[in-house]
Amino acid sequence: MIRPLIRSKALLLLAAAMLPMAANAKPAAPAKAGPGTSQPRPQVQPAGPVKGAPRLLVAISVDQFSADLFAQYRSHFVAGLGRLAGGMVFPAGYQSHAATETCPGHSTILTGMRPAHTGIIANTWIDQSAARPKKAIYCAEDETKQAADPKDYVASVDHLLVPTLGEMIKRQWPTSRNVAVSGKDRAALMMGGHVIDQVYWWKGKGFTTLDGRTLGPEAVAENKSLESVLAQGAPAMTMPAWCGPHDRAIALGGGAPASGGIGIANSLATAAPAPTASGFTVGTGHFALAPNDANAFRASPRLDRATLDLATELVDSMKLGKGPTPDMLAVSLSATDYVGHATGTEGAEMCIQMQQLDLALGDFFKALDDRHIDYAVVLTADHGGFDLPERLREQALPSAERAAPALLPDQVSAVVGAKLGMEPKDLILGDGAFGDFWINKAVPADQKTKVIDAAKAVFLSQPQVQAVFTASELAAAPMPTGTPDTWSLLDRARASFYAPRSGDLVVILKRGVVPIVRPMPGIVATHGSAWDYDRRVPILFWRAGMTPFEQPSAVETVDIAPSLAALIALKEPAGTFDGRCLDLDAGPGTTCGATN
Ligand SMILES: [Zn+2]
Repeated sequence: MIRPLIRSKALLLLAAAMLPMAANAKPAAPAKAGPGTSQPRPQVQPAGPVKGAPRLLVAISVDQFSADLFAQYRSHFVAGLGRLAGGMVFPAGYQSHAATETCPGHSTILTGMRPAHTGIIANTWIDQSAARPKKAIYCAEDETKQAADPKDYVASVDHLLVPTLGEMIKRQWPTSRNVAVSGKDRAALMMGGHVIDQVYWWKGKGFTTLDGRTLGPEAVAENKSLESVLAQGAPAMTMPAWCGPHDRAIALGGGAPASGGIGIANSLATAAPAPTASGFTVGTGHFALAPNDANAFRASPRLDRATLDLATELVDSMKLGKGPTPDMLAVSLSATDYVGHATGTEGAEMCIQMQQLDLALGDFFKALDDRHIDYAVVLTADHGGFDLPERLREQALPSAERAAPALLPDQVSAVVGAKLGMEPKDLILGDGAFGDFWINKAVPADQKTKVIDAAKAVFLSQPQVQAVFTASELAAAPMPTGTPDTWSLLDRARASFYAPRSGDLVVILKRGVVPIVRPMPGIVATHGSAWDYDRRVPILFWRAGMTPFEQPSAVETVDIAPSLAALIALKEPAGTFDGRCLDLDAGPGTTCGATN
Protein backbone atom coordinates (compact mmCIF):
# COMPACT_ATOMS: atom_id res chain seq x y z
CA MET A 1 0.00 0.00 0.00
CA ILE A 2 2.72 2.47 0.90
CA ARG A 3 4.71 2.25 -2.27
CA PRO A 4 4.08 5.67 -3.82
CA LEU A 5 7.15 7.46 -2.57
CA ILE A 6 9.53 4.77 -3.67
CA ARG A 7 7.78 4.47 -6.97
CA SER A 8 7.73 8.20 -7.58
CA LYS A 9 11.42 8.49 -6.91
CA ALA A 10 12.22 5.61 -9.20
CA LEU A 11 10.16 7.11 -11.95
CA LEU A 12 11.66 10.50 -11.40
CA LEU A 13 15.06 9.01 -12.06
CA LEU A 14 13.67 7.16 -15.02
CA ALA A 15 12.15 10.30 -16.48
CA ALA A 16 15.32 12.23 -15.90
CA ALA A 17 17.36 9.47 -17.46
CA MET A 18 15.23 9.48 -20.57
CA LEU A 19 16.17 12.96 -21.63
CA PRO A 20 19.88 12.46 -22.19
CA MET A 21 19.13 9.05 -23.70
CA ALA A 22 16.88 10.66 -26.22
CA ALA A 23 19.36 13.36 -26.99
CA ASN A 24 21.98 10.74 -27.72
CA ALA A 25 19.72 8.49 -29.70
CA LYS A 26 20.75 7.79 -33.26
CA PRO A 27 20.17 8.94 -35.78
CA ALA A 28 17.08 11.00 -35.00
CA ALA A 29 16.95 12.76 -31.65
CA PRO A 30 13.33 13.63 -31.10
CA ALA A 31 13.90 15.80 -28.06
CA LYS A 32 16.14 18.01 -30.13
CA ALA A 33 14.13 17.63 -33.26
CA GLY A 34 13.81 20.81 -35.14
CA PRO A 35 11.01 21.91 -37.21
CA GLY A 36 9.78 20.13 -39.88
CA THR A 37 8.00 17.10 -40.30
CA SER A 38 9.25 13.80 -41.22
CA GLN A 39 12.26 12.69 -39.29
CA PRO A 40 14.44 10.41 -41.37
CA ARG A 41 13.84 6.86 -40.28
CA PRO A 42 16.71 4.94 -38.70
CA GLN A 43 18.04 2.14 -40.88
CA VAL A 44 17.93 -0.49 -38.15
CA GLN A 45 14.37 -1.52 -37.47
CA PRO A 46 13.71 -3.21 -34.16
CA ALA A 47 11.17 -5.97 -33.89
CA GLY A 48 7.72 -4.71 -34.67
CA PRO A 49 4.67 -5.07 -32.50
CA VAL A 50 2.61 -8.23 -32.41
CA LYS A 51 0.97 -9.23 -35.62
CA GLY A 52 -2.32 -7.54 -36.10
CA ALA A 53 -1.58 -4.72 -33.68
CA PRO A 54 -2.76 -1.28 -34.70
CA ARG A 55 -0.13 0.91 -36.33
CA LEU A 56 -1.48 4.14 -34.93
CA LEU A 57 -2.84 4.83 -31.46
CA VAL A 58 -5.03 7.90 -31.35
CA ALA A 59 -5.80 9.26 -27.88
CA ILE A 60 -8.32 12.08 -27.82
CA SER A 61 -9.17 14.16 -24.81
CA VAL A 62 -12.23 16.39 -25.02
CA ASP A 63 -11.60 19.01 -22.38
CA GLN A 64 -14.50 19.14 -19.86
CA PHE A 65 -16.48 16.40 -21.65
CA SER A 66 -18.23 15.00 -18.60
CA ALA A 67 -19.94 11.64 -18.44
CA ASP A 68 -23.09 13.72 -17.93
CA LEU A 69 -22.67 15.50 -21.29
CA PHE A 70 -21.95 12.20 -23.03
CA ALA A 71 -25.10 10.66 -21.57
CA GLN A 72 -27.21 13.74 -22.26
CA TYR A 73 -26.28 13.99 -25.95
CA ARG A 74 -25.50 10.39 -26.78
CA SER A 75 -28.69 9.81 -28.73
CA HIS A 76 -27.84 12.77 -30.99
CA PHE A 77 -24.32 11.66 -31.87
CA VAL A 78 -24.30 10.42 -35.46
CA ALA A 79 -20.73 11.02 -36.66
CA GLY A 80 -17.43 10.66 -34.76
CA LEU A 81 -18.91 10.42 -31.29
CA GLY A 82 -21.63 8.21 -32.71
CA ARG A 83 -18.99 5.81 -33.97
CA LEU A 84 -17.25 5.76 -30.58
CA ALA A 85 -20.55 5.34 -28.74
CA GLY A 86 -20.90 2.11 -30.72
CA GLY A 87 -17.46 0.83 -29.71
CA MET A 88 -16.11 -0.45 -26.44
CA VAL A 89 -17.86 1.94 -24.09
CA PHE A 90 -17.03 2.70 -20.46
CA PRO A 91 -19.62 5.35 -19.58
CA ALA A 92 -18.41 5.59 -15.96
CA GLY A 93 -14.77 6.50 -16.40
CA TYR A 94 -13.16 8.40 -13.56
CA GLN A 95 -10.55 11.05 -13.23
CA SER A 96 -10.50 9.62 -9.75
CA HIS A 97 -8.59 12.37 -7.91
CA ALA A 98 -9.94 15.46 -6.15
CA ALA A 99 -8.10 18.15 -8.14
CA THR A 100 -10.16 17.83 -11.32
CA GLU A 101 -8.34 20.44 -13.37
CA THR A 102 -6.95 20.32 -16.89
CA CYS A 103 -3.30 19.72 -16.13
CA PRO A 104 -3.71 16.93 -13.56
CA GLY A 105 -6.39 15.30 -15.70
CA HIS A 106 -4.32 15.29 -18.87
CA SER A 107 -1.35 14.01 -16.90
CA THR A 108 -3.23 10.78 -16.06
CA ILE A 109 -4.48 9.83 -19.52
CA LEU A 110 -1.30 8.62 -21.24
CA THR A 111 0.94 8.04 -18.24
CA GLY A 112 -1.44 5.63 -16.53
CA MET A 113 -0.54 7.38 -13.28
CA ARG A 114 -2.62 9.44 -10.87
CA PRO A 115 -1.54 13.03 -10.13
CA ALA A 116 0.06 11.85 -6.87
CA HIS A 117 2.60 10.11 -9.11
CA THR A 118 2.66 12.41 -12.14
CA GLY A 119 3.40 15.31 -9.77
CA ILE A 120 0.81 17.47 -11.54
CA ILE A 121 -1.32 18.33 -8.54
CA ALA A 122 -3.11 21.34 -10.07
CA ASN A 123 -2.93 23.76 -12.97
CA THR A 124 -1.05 26.14 -10.70
CA TRP A 125 0.67 25.67 -7.37
CA ILE A 126 2.70 27.91 -5.07
CA ASP A 127 6.42 27.24 -4.72
CA GLN A 128 7.78 29.68 -2.19
CA SER A 129 11.31 28.50 -2.91
CA ALA A 130 11.10 29.61 -6.54
CA ALA A 131 14.01 31.86 -7.45
CA ARG A 132 11.82 34.43 -9.17
CA PRO A 133 9.55 36.96 -7.42
CA LYS A 134 6.36 35.30 -8.70
CA LYS A 135 5.80 32.16 -6.65
CA ALA A 136 2.78 30.78 -8.49
CA ILE A 137 4.03 28.02 -10.76
CA TYR A 138 2.11 27.03 -13.87
CA CYS A 139 2.11 23.27 -14.40
CA ALA A 140 3.41 23.52 -17.97
CA GLU A 141 6.09 26.17 -17.61
CA ASP A 142 9.80 26.21 -16.93
CA GLU A 143 9.93 28.83 -14.21
CA THR A 144 13.71 28.82 -14.25
CA LYS A 145 13.65 30.41 -17.69
CA GLN A 146 12.59 33.93 -18.44
CA ALA A 147 10.29 34.38 -21.43
CA ALA A 148 11.10 37.10 -23.93
CA ASP A 149 7.86 38.84 -22.93
CA PRO A 150 7.80 39.47 -19.15
CA LYS A 151 4.07 38.70 -19.08
CA ASP A 152 4.62 35.35 -20.76
CA TYR A 153 6.22 32.07 -19.69
CA VAL A 154 8.34 29.35 -21.26
CA ALA A 155 6.18 26.29 -21.96
CA SER A 156 7.70 23.05 -20.70
CA VAL A 157 6.77 19.55 -19.63
CA ASP A 158 9.51 19.31 -17.00
CA HIS A 159 7.07 19.21 -14.08
CA LEU A 160 5.66 15.90 -15.34
CA LEU A 161 7.51 13.26 -13.32
CA VAL A 162 6.70 10.16 -15.34
CA PRO A 163 6.91 9.10 -18.99
CA THR A 164 3.93 9.04 -21.32
CA LEU A 165 2.82 6.12 -23.46
CA GLY A 166 4.29 7.83 -26.53
CA GLU A 167 7.65 7.98 -24.80
CA MET A 168 7.43 4.33 -23.74
CA ILE A 169 6.61 3.36 -27.32
CA LYS A 170 9.61 5.26 -28.61
CA ARG A 171 11.80 3.59 -26.03
CA GLN A 172 10.73 0.16 -27.24
CA TRP A 173 10.62 1.09 -30.93
CA PRO A 174 12.85 4.09 -31.65
CA THR A 175 11.37 4.47 -35.12
CA SER A 176 7.91 5.18 -33.70
CA ARG A 177 6.67 8.75 -33.65
CA ASN A 178 5.05 10.59 -30.75
CA VAL A 179 2.91 13.59 -31.69
CA ALA A 180 0.53 15.83 -29.72
CA VAL A 181 -1.79 18.64 -30.80
CA SER A 182 -4.17 20.69 -28.67
CA GLY A 183 -5.93 23.95 -28.08
CA LYS A 184 -3.91 24.24 -24.84
CA ASP A 185 -0.20 23.90 -24.14
CA ARG A 186 -0.69 21.98 -20.88
CA ALA A 187 -2.91 19.43 -22.61
CA ALA A 188 -0.53 18.80 -25.51
CA LEU A 189 2.51 18.63 -23.24
CA MET A 190 0.99 16.39 -20.54
CA MET A 191 -0.27 13.92 -23.15
CA GLY A 192 2.86 14.13 -25.28
CA GLY A 193 5.54 14.08 -22.62
CA HIS A 194 9.25 14.79 -22.68
CA VAL A 195 10.37 13.03 -25.83
CA ILE A 196 8.10 14.15 -28.60
CA ASP A 197 8.55 14.47 -32.33
CA GLN A 198 5.98 17.19 -32.92
CA VAL A 199 3.90 19.16 -30.44
CA TYR A 200 1.56 22.05 -31.19
CA TRP A 201 -0.99 24.07 -29.31
CA TRP A 202 -3.13 27.12 -29.91
CA LYS A 203 -1.78 30.38 -28.59
CA GLY A 204 -3.32 33.76 -29.30
CA LYS A 205 -4.03 33.66 -33.00
CA GLY A 206 -2.41 30.47 -34.18
CA PHE A 207 -0.66 27.22 -33.37
CA THR A 208 2.75 27.34 -31.76
CA THR A 209 5.33 24.88 -30.42
CA LEU A 210 8.13 24.63 -27.86
CA ASP A 211 10.81 27.28 -27.67
CA GLY A 212 13.78 26.34 -29.78
CA ARG A 213 11.67 24.63 -32.41
CA THR A 214 10.24 26.25 -35.49
CA LEU A 215 6.79 25.63 -36.86
CA GLY A 216 6.56 22.87 -39.41
CA PRO A 217 4.93 23.56 -42.78
CA GLU A 218 1.67 21.97 -41.61
CA ALA A 219 1.30 24.45 -38.76
CA VAL A 220 2.36 27.35 -40.95
CA ALA A 221 -0.28 26.38 -43.50
CA GLU A 222 -2.98 25.88 -40.87
CA ASN A 223 -2.21 29.23 -39.26
CA LYS A 224 -2.32 30.91 -42.64
CA SER A 225 -5.75 29.52 -43.44
CA LEU A 226 -7.05 30.53 -40.00
CA GLU A 227 -5.70 34.04 -40.40
CA SER A 228 -8.39 34.92 -42.91
CA VAL A 229 -11.17 33.33 -40.81
CA LEU A 230 -10.07 35.42 -37.85
CA ALA A 231 -9.81 38.58 -39.91
CA GLN A 232 -13.17 38.19 -41.60
CA GLY A 233 -15.22 36.62 -38.84
CA ALA A 234 -17.95 34.11 -39.55
CA PRO A 235 -21.73 33.92 -39.36
CA ALA A 236 -23.62 32.24 -36.54
CA MET A 237 -23.82 28.46 -36.70
CA THR A 238 -27.05 26.69 -37.45
CA MET A 239 -28.63 25.28 -34.33
CA PRO A 240 -30.19 21.82 -34.61
CA ALA A 241 -33.83 21.70 -33.60
CA TRP A 242 -33.03 19.46 -30.64
CA CYS A 243 -31.07 22.31 -29.07
CA GLY A 244 -34.19 24.47 -28.96
CA PRO A 245 -35.07 23.94 -25.27
CA HIS A 246 -31.54 25.06 -24.28
CA ASP A 247 -31.78 28.36 -26.16
CA ARG A 248 -32.82 30.54 -23.25
CA ALA A 249 -31.06 33.52 -21.70
CA ILE A 250 -29.79 33.35 -18.12
CA ALA A 251 -29.03 36.70 -16.52
CA LEU A 252 -25.71 37.11 -14.74
CA GLY A 253 -23.46 39.75 -13.32
CA GLY A 254 -25.78 41.70 -11.13
CA GLY A 255 -27.88 43.91 -13.35
CA ALA A 256 -30.90 43.13 -15.43
CA PRO A 257 -30.36 40.89 -18.42
CA ALA A 258 -29.52 42.55 -21.68
CA SER A 259 -32.58 42.10 -23.80
CA GLY A 260 -32.39 39.05 -26.01
CA GLY A 261 -28.98 38.06 -24.80
CA ILE A 262 -27.23 39.46 -27.80
CA GLY A 263 -23.80 40.94 -27.69
CA ILE A 264 -21.58 39.33 -25.14
CA ALA A 265 -23.43 36.06 -24.99
CA ASN A 266 -23.59 35.64 -28.73
CA SER A 267 -19.98 36.48 -29.34
CA LEU A 268 -18.88 34.46 -26.32
CA ALA A 269 -16.40 37.14 -25.51
CA THR A 270 -13.73 35.91 -23.17
CA ALA A 271 -11.75 39.10 -22.75
CA ALA A 272 -13.16 39.88 -19.35
CA PRO A 273 -14.42 43.43 -18.98
CA ALA A 274 -14.44 45.05 -15.56
CA PRO A 275 -16.13 42.84 -12.97
CA THR A 276 -18.60 45.63 -12.37
CA ALA A 277 -20.22 44.87 -15.72
CA SER A 278 -23.81 45.81 -15.29
CA GLY A 279 -25.04 42.43 -16.37
CA PHE A 280 -24.93 40.00 -19.23
CA THR A 281 -26.61 36.81 -20.27
CA VAL A 282 -25.53 33.38 -21.39
CA GLY A 283 -27.48 30.55 -22.95
CA THR A 284 -28.41 31.89 -26.38
CA GLY A 285 -25.07 32.14 -28.16
CA HIS A 286 -24.82 30.63 -31.64
CA PHE A 287 -21.12 31.37 -32.25
CA ALA A 288 -21.35 34.32 -34.60
CA LEU A 289 -17.70 35.36 -34.91
CA ALA A 290 -16.87 39.05 -35.10
CA PRO A 291 -13.80 40.01 -37.16
CA ASN A 292 -10.53 39.81 -35.22
CA ASP A 293 -12.08 38.28 -32.10
CA ALA A 294 -9.54 35.55 -31.35
CA ASN A 295 -11.01 34.91 -27.90
CA ALA A 296 -14.41 34.14 -29.38
CA PHE A 297 -12.76 31.87 -31.95
CA ARG A 298 -11.11 29.94 -29.14
CA ALA A 299 -14.40 29.46 -27.27
CA SER A 300 -16.14 28.00 -30.29
CA PRO A 301 -16.31 24.72 -32.23
CA ARG A 302 -13.93 26.27 -34.76
CA LEU A 303 -10.96 25.70 -32.47
CA ASP A 304 -11.58 21.95 -32.35
CA ARG A 305 -11.90 21.73 -36.11
CA ALA A 306 -8.63 23.62 -36.54
CA THR A 307 -6.92 21.29 -34.06
CA LEU A 308 -8.19 18.21 -35.91
CA ASP A 309 -7.19 19.73 -39.25
CA LEU A 310 -3.65 20.19 -38.00
CA ALA A 311 -3.63 16.64 -36.61
CA THR A 312 -4.70 15.33 -40.02
CA GLU A 313 -2.00 17.33 -41.77
CA LEU A 314 0.58 15.85 -39.39
CA VAL A 315 -0.73 12.35 -40.10
CA ASP A 316 -0.05 13.01 -43.77
CA SER A 317 3.30 14.71 -43.57
CA MET A 318 4.73 12.30 -40.99
CA LYS A 319 2.96 9.28 -42.54
CA LEU A 320 1.69 8.32 -39.11
CA GLY A 321 0.40 4.79 -38.93
CA LYS A 322 2.30 3.83 -42.07
CA GLY A 323 5.59 2.84 -40.47
CA PRO A 324 6.69 -0.60 -39.33
CA THR A 325 6.18 0.25 -35.66
CA PRO A 326 3.26 1.87 -33.86
CA ASP A 327 2.93 5.65 -33.71
CA MET A 328 1.19 7.69 -31.03
CA LEU A 329 -1.02 10.66 -31.81
CA ALA A 330 -2.52 12.60 -28.89
CA VAL A 331 -5.19 15.20 -29.59
CA SER A 332 -6.79 17.35 -26.94
CA LEU A 333 -9.82 19.36 -28.04
CA SER A 334 -10.23 22.42 -25.86
CA ALA A 335 -13.34 24.18 -27.14
CA THR A 336 -15.80 22.24 -24.97
CA ASP A 337 -13.96 23.57 -21.93
CA TYR A 338 -13.88 27.16 -23.13
CA VAL A 339 -17.58 26.97 -24.02
CA GLY A 340 -18.33 25.45 -20.61
CA HIS A 341 -16.47 28.16 -18.76
CA ALA A 342 -18.03 30.94 -20.81
CA THR A 343 -21.62 29.71 -20.91
CA GLY A 344 -22.04 26.63 -18.72
CA THR A 345 -23.08 23.15 -19.76
CA GLU A 346 -26.80 23.51 -20.42
CA GLY A 347 -27.16 26.41 -22.84
CA ALA A 348 -27.58 26.51 -26.59
CA GLU A 349 -23.83 27.05 -26.81
CA MET A 350 -22.87 23.65 -25.35
CA CYS A 351 -25.61 21.95 -27.33
CA ILE A 352 -24.22 23.33 -30.61
CA GLN A 353 -20.69 22.53 -29.46
CA MET A 354 -21.66 18.89 -28.89
CA GLN A 355 -23.10 18.60 -32.38
CA GLN A 356 -20.10 20.30 -34.01
CA LEU A 357 -17.65 18.17 -32.02
CA ASP A 358 -19.42 15.03 -33.22
CA LEU A 359 -19.24 16.21 -36.83
CA ALA A 360 -15.60 17.31 -36.65
CA LEU A 361 -14.57 13.99 -35.11
CA GLY A 362 -16.53 12.17 -37.81
CA ASP A 363 -14.53 13.98 -40.50
CA PHE A 364 -11.28 13.23 -38.69
CA PHE A 365 -11.98 9.50 -38.45
CA LYS A 366 -13.05 9.46 -42.07
CA ALA A 367 -9.73 11.05 -43.01
CA LEU A 368 -7.92 8.23 -41.19
CA ASP A 369 -10.16 5.65 -42.89
CA ASP A 370 -9.50 7.18 -46.31
CA ARG A 371 -5.76 6.80 -45.72
CA HIS A 372 -6.23 3.11 -44.92
CA ILE A 373 -4.52 3.50 -41.57
CA ASP A 374 -4.96 0.67 -39.07
CA TYR A 375 -5.69 2.70 -35.96
CA ALA A 376 -7.19 2.25 -32.52
CA VAL A 377 -8.73 5.23 -30.83
CA VAL A 378 -9.65 6.14 -27.30
CA LEU A 379 -11.60 9.24 -26.34
CA THR A 380 -11.96 10.57 -22.83
CA ALA A 381 -11.76 13.83 -20.90
CA ASP A 382 -9.40 15.52 -18.48
CA HIS A 383 -12.31 16.22 -16.08
CA GLY A 384 -16.05 16.71 -16.16
CA GLY A 385 -17.93 19.93 -15.60
CA PHE A 386 -20.82 21.62 -13.89
CA ASP A 387 -23.35 24.20 -14.98
CA LEU A 388 -23.66 27.72 -13.60
CA PRO A 389 -25.52 27.94 -10.29
CA GLU A 390 -27.95 30.54 -11.63
CA ARG A 391 -29.35 28.02 -14.14
CA LEU A 392 -28.93 25.00 -11.85
CA ARG A 393 -31.18 26.69 -9.30
CA GLU A 394 -33.86 27.11 -11.95
CA GLN A 395 -33.47 23.48 -12.93
CA ALA A 396 -34.17 21.61 -9.71
CA LEU A 397 -30.88 22.09 -7.86
CA PRO A 398 -31.70 24.82 -5.32
CA SER A 399 -28.52 24.11 -3.34
CA ALA A 400 -26.24 25.32 -6.17
CA GLU A 401 -24.41 28.52 -5.29
CA ARG A 402 -21.21 30.46 -5.81
CA ALA A 403 -18.35 30.29 -3.33
CA ALA A 404 -18.29 32.99 -0.69
CA PRO A 405 -15.49 35.59 -0.83
CA ALA A 406 -14.67 34.61 2.76
CA LEU A 407 -12.98 31.50 1.33
CA LEU A 408 -10.39 33.48 -0.61
CA PRO A 409 -6.83 33.37 0.75
CA ASP A 410 -6.63 37.05 1.71
CA GLN A 411 -9.84 36.86 3.72
CA VAL A 412 -8.83 33.66 5.48
CA SER A 413 -5.42 35.25 6.15
CA ALA A 414 -7.11 38.23 7.79
CA VAL A 415 -9.16 36.05 10.13
CA VAL A 416 -6.27 33.75 11.03
CA GLY A 417 -3.88 36.70 11.49
CA ALA A 418 -6.29 38.45 13.84
CA LYS A 419 -6.88 35.27 15.81
CA LEU A 420 -3.16 34.56 16.30
CA GLY A 421 -1.87 38.12 16.45
CA MET A 422 0.21 37.60 13.31
CA GLU A 423 0.80 39.75 10.24
CA PRO A 424 -2.17 38.81 8.04
CA LYS A 425 -0.81 39.87 4.65
CA ASP A 426 -0.16 36.73 2.58
CA LEU A 427 -0.28 34.56 5.69
CA ILE A 428 -2.26 31.96 3.73
CA LEU A 429 -1.44 31.61 0.04
CA GLY A 430 -3.65 30.01 -2.56
CA ASP A 431 -5.01 30.11 -6.09
CA GLY A 432 -8.72 30.57 -5.36
CA ALA A 433 -11.55 29.72 -3.01
CA PHE A 434 -10.80 25.99 -2.68
CA GLY A 435 -8.12 23.37 -3.23
CA ASP A 436 -4.55 23.80 -2.04
CA PHE A 437 -3.51 26.51 0.43
CA TRP A 438 0.02 27.16 1.69
CA ILE A 439 1.26 28.80 4.89
CA ASN A 440 3.68 31.64 4.23
CA LYS A 441 7.23 30.35 4.62
CA ALA A 442 8.05 33.40 6.75
CA VAL A 443 6.03 31.81 9.56
CA PRO A 444 8.58 30.33 12.00
CA ALA A 445 8.68 26.53 11.96
CA ASP A 446 7.51 26.25 15.55
CA GLN A 447 4.44 28.36 14.72
CA LYS A 448 3.44 26.61 11.52
CA THR A 449 1.28 23.91 13.05
CA LYS A 450 -0.61 26.54 15.00
CA VAL A 451 -1.33 28.47 11.78
CA ILE A 452 -2.39 25.32 9.94
CA ASP A 453 -4.76 24.37 12.76
CA ALA A 454 -6.21 27.87 12.90
CA ALA A 455 -6.68 28.04 9.13
CA LYS A 456 -8.32 24.61 9.14
CA ALA A 457 -10.72 25.78 11.85
CA VAL A 458 -11.54 28.95 9.90
CA PHE A 459 -12.29 26.99 6.74
CA LEU A 460 -14.38 24.44 8.61
CA SER A 461 -16.42 27.24 10.17
CA GLN A 462 -17.54 28.25 6.67
CA PRO A 463 -20.90 26.71 5.75
CA GLN A 464 -19.76 25.90 2.20
CA VAL A 465 -16.81 23.76 3.29
CA GLN A 466 -17.26 19.99 3.26
CA ALA A 467 -13.81 18.87 4.40
CA VAL A 468 -10.28 20.11 5.05
CA PHE A 469 -7.25 17.82 4.96
CA THR A 470 -3.78 18.80 6.11
CA ALA A 471 -0.67 17.73 4.25
CA SER A 472 0.34 15.47 7.12
CA GLU A 473 -3.06 13.76 7.09
CA LEU A 474 -2.78 13.19 3.35
CA ALA A 475 0.82 12.02 3.53
CA ALA A 476 -0.18 9.44 6.15
CA ALA A 477 -3.12 8.15 4.09
CA PRO A 478 -2.56 5.11 1.88
CA MET A 479 -3.00 5.45 -1.86
CA PRO A 480 -6.63 4.49 -2.49
CA THR A 481 -7.49 1.15 -4.00
CA GLY A 482 -10.72 -0.35 -5.23
CA THR A 483 -13.37 1.10 -7.42
CA PRO A 484 -13.17 4.94 -7.63
CA ASP A 485 -16.93 5.52 -7.25
CA THR A 486 -16.64 4.29 -3.66
CA TRP A 487 -13.63 6.38 -2.63
CA SER A 488 -13.88 8.71 0.35
CA LEU A 489 -13.06 12.40 0.00
CA LEU A 490 -9.74 11.69 1.71
CA ASP A 491 -9.01 9.01 -0.91
CA ARG A 492 -9.75 11.47 -3.72
CA ALA A 493 -7.54 14.15 -2.21
CA ARG A 494 -4.80 11.57 -1.61
CA ALA A 495 -4.79 10.64 -5.30
CA SER A 496 -3.77 14.19 -6.24
CA PHE A 497 -1.42 14.82 -3.31
CA TYR A 498 2.31 15.09 -3.99
CA ALA A 499 4.11 16.34 -0.90
CA PRO A 500 6.81 18.48 -2.54
CA ARG A 501 4.17 20.57 -4.35
CA SER A 502 0.85 20.19 -2.55
CA GLY A 503 -0.50 22.73 -0.12
CA ASP A 504 -0.37 22.60 3.66
CA LEU A 505 -4.16 22.35 3.49
CA VAL A 506 -6.56 20.98 0.90
CA VAL A 507 -10.07 22.45 1.13
CA ILE A 508 -13.04 20.61 -0.39
CA LEU A 509 -16.24 22.56 -0.88
CA LYS A 510 -19.73 21.12 -0.59
CA ARG A 511 -21.40 19.58 -3.59
CA GLY A 512 -23.00 22.27 -5.73
CA VAL A 513 -20.71 25.12 -4.66
CA VAL A 514 -19.15 26.68 -7.76
CA PRO A 515 -15.77 28.20 -6.90
CA ILE A 516 -16.18 31.30 -9.06
CA VAL A 517 -17.03 34.01 -6.59
CA ARG A 518 -18.23 36.50 -9.19
CA PRO A 519 -19.21 35.54 -12.73
CA MET A 520 -17.72 37.58 -15.55
CA PRO A 521 -18.15 37.34 -19.30
CA GLY A 522 -16.08 34.33 -20.35
CA ILE A 523 -15.94 32.82 -16.86
CA VAL A 524 -19.28 31.80 -15.42
CA ALA A 525 -18.97 28.09 -14.69
CA THR A 526 -16.16 25.67 -13.91
CA HIS A 527 -14.91 22.30 -12.68
CA GLY A 528 -12.13 21.32 -10.27
CA SER A 529 -14.16 19.80 -7.45
CA ALA A 530 -13.91 16.40 -5.82
CA TRP A 531 -17.52 15.59 -6.82
CA ASP A 532 -18.58 13.16 -9.48
CA TYR A 533 -19.88 15.79 -11.89
CA ASP A 534 -16.22 16.77 -12.25
CA ARG A 535 -14.69 13.29 -11.82
CA ARG A 536 -16.82 11.19 -14.17
CA VAL A 537 -15.83 11.11 -17.83
CA PRO A 538 -16.60 8.72 -20.66
CA ILE A 539 -13.86 6.36 -21.82
CA LEU A 540 -14.60 5.18 -25.35
CA PHE A 541 -12.44 2.78 -27.35
CA TRP A 542 -12.91 1.96 -30.99
CA ARG A 543 -11.10 -0.07 -33.60
CA ALA A 544 -12.38 -1.32 -36.92
CA GLY A 545 -13.62 -4.87 -36.70
CA MET A 546 -13.79 -5.12 -32.93
CA THR A 547 -17.02 -6.26 -31.35
CA PRO A 548 -18.63 -3.45 -29.39
CA PHE A 549 -19.68 -3.79 -25.77
CA GLU A 550 -20.61 -1.60 -22.85
CA GLN A 551 -19.21 -1.92 -19.33
CA PRO A 552 -21.03 0.42 -16.94
CA SER A 553 -18.89 -0.34 -13.90
CA ALA A 554 -16.44 2.35 -12.82
CA VAL A 555 -13.00 2.41 -14.41
CA GLU A 556 -10.27 5.06 -14.37
CA THR A 557 -8.49 7.19 -16.93
CA VAL A 558 -5.25 5.65 -15.62
CA ASP A 559 -6.52 2.39 -17.14
CA ILE A 560 -6.20 3.86 -20.64
CA ALA A 561 -2.40 3.73 -21.01
CA PRO A 562 -2.04 0.07 -19.93
CA SER A 563 -4.99 -0.87 -22.17
CA LEU A 564 -3.44 0.78 -25.23
CA ALA A 565 0.00 -0.58 -24.31
CA ALA A 566 -1.41 -4.09 -24.31
CA LEU A 567 -2.92 -3.64 -27.78
CA ILE A 568 0.58 -3.19 -29.20
CA ALA A 569 2.30 -5.60 -26.77
CA LEU A 570 4.40 -2.86 -25.26
CA LYS A 571 6.59 -4.34 -22.57
CA GLU A 572 6.71 -2.34 -19.39
CA PRO A 573 7.70 -3.61 -15.94
CA ALA A 574 5.04 -4.20 -13.30
CA GLY A 575 4.34 -1.04 -11.39
CA THR A 576 4.62 1.21 -14.45
CA PHE A 577 0.93 2.12 -14.23
CA ASP A 578 -1.50 2.94 -11.43
CA GLY A 579 -4.26 1.65 -13.71
CA ARG A 580 -5.07 -1.79 -15.05
CA CYS A 581 -5.49 -3.13 -18.55
CA LEU A 582 -9.11 -3.09 -19.70
CA ASP A 583 -9.85 -6.16 -21.82
CA LEU A 584 -11.33 -4.71 -25.00
CA ASP A 585 -12.25 -8.08 -26.46
CA ALA A 586 -15.98 -8.56 -26.01
CA GLY A 587 -15.71 -12.34 -26.08
CA PRO A 588 -13.63 -15.00 -24.33
CA GLY A 589 -10.42 -13.64 -25.86
CA THR A 590 -8.43 -10.87 -24.25
CA THR A 591 -6.50 -7.85 -25.41
CA CYS A 592 -4.60 -7.81 -22.11
CA GLY A 593 -2.70 -11.04 -22.52
CA ALA A 594 0.48 -9.57 -23.90
CA THR A 595 1.09 -7.05 -21.17
CA ASN A 596 2.33 -7.30 -17.63
ZN1 LIG B 1 -9.69 20.96 -18.77
